[in-house]
Amino acid sequence: MAFGWMDEQAELRRRAGLVRTLRPRPADSPLLDLASNDYLGLTHHPEIAEGAAEAARTWGGGSTGSRLVTGTTELHTELERELAGFCGFEAALVFSSGYAANLAAVTALAPHGSLIVSDAGNHASLIDGCRLARGTTQVVGHADPEAVRKALQTHEDSAATAVVVSDTVFSVDGDAAPLAELAAACRERGAGLLVDDAHGLGVLGEGGRGAAHAAGLAGADDVVVTATLSKSLGSQGGVVLGPARVIEHLVNAARTFIFDTGLAPAAAGAALAALRLLRREPERAARARAVAAELHARLTAAGHEAVRPDAAVVSVRAPSPEGAVQWAADCRTAGLAVGCFRPPSVPDGISRLRLTARADLSEAQIERAVRVIGETRP
Ligand code: PMP
Repeated sequence: MAFGWMDEQAELRRRAGLVRTLRPRPADSPLLDLASNDYLGLTHHPEIAEGAAEAARTWGGGSTGSRLVTGTTELHTELERELAGFCGFEAALVFSSGYAANLAAVTALAPHGSLIVSDAGNHASLIDGCRLARGTTQVVGHADPEAVRKALQTHEDSAATAVVVSDTVFSVDGDAAPLAELAAACRERGAGLLVDDAHGLGVLGEGGRGAAHAAGLAGADDVVVTATLSKSLGSQGGVVLGPARVIEHLVNAARTFIFDTGLAPAAAGAALAALRLLRREPERAARARAVAAELHARLTAAGHEAVRPDAAVVSVRAPSPEGAVQWAADCRTAGLAVGCFRPPSVPDGISRLRLTARADLSEAQIERAVRVIGETRP
């Protein structure tokens, strides 16, 4: 029977405690939300909703085509100009998702014969980019510039077509990549550096300008940054930031740009409104980091094993995949939504609760979250 093999896989998943289900979220959920990626608390902000609505009224519900045909509006170019300016890069290109931006950046920067050096903890979208790219991928140990250096040395012939790929903030544990050391290793060999700042934009750097800006790498001619518009900016979509030469190359070579319908106007309008709001209220970035530090301090004081956060993701170790699922479910029953990461999302096999330190959380909410996590611990 067609697809019959899926039943066996479903049974294996069930036995391993790895079944995933969709749970619709009501618009007015009473839960305290520490599960979303809405780091700056902007997704429900009236200015962001109005940015989306105004863009949809002006430009319609969709962008009508590929960016190269009819899908580029003045709104797209405005958003790209402002994103590049804010983050300190020469140029920017927006995509329909951060996933598509990562596929574009990795494949377009790693032609046939090139070497991609990829951190073992990278996000699935970077990993898939490596799989699709014509270059050869070498996976190196997590956050290990020395391993990167060694890998680059194996690519004797054409180091100029080597690219090092890393998340800036790793999505599972919330730890940061050693960007300055990675850039130094790249520069020794004339390699490019491509970093995914999905969890850094809006949180790290001056006023949320991102991890590359914080590391003094913004605008460098050998650095390319990708990011999503769906976390701190409270919208949807992705962006690649870098030298104009790289952006022009992507327009001509990146398949997820050329063959994908352009970012929806509502998403572009919401992201633009969020960016302008962040410029006006830069303290939101520092507040998200402070909430993360406080959550971590309180959790460790209560005896939990939590990774010290470098941005706004706080990761708490769970005893097992089943234990993690039960813990998250019990939190939910007690009114708290938390993320639950287990294999295969965590390749090291260690399951975790994942908490988002939103800039708009109050002291009372932080206290309540820590109390519930303690009371429901398996
Ligand atoms: N990179 C990282 C590190 C992410 O966490 C995510 C989102 N989960 C993405 C890329 C993909 O972004 P998007 O959701 O906009 O496709």
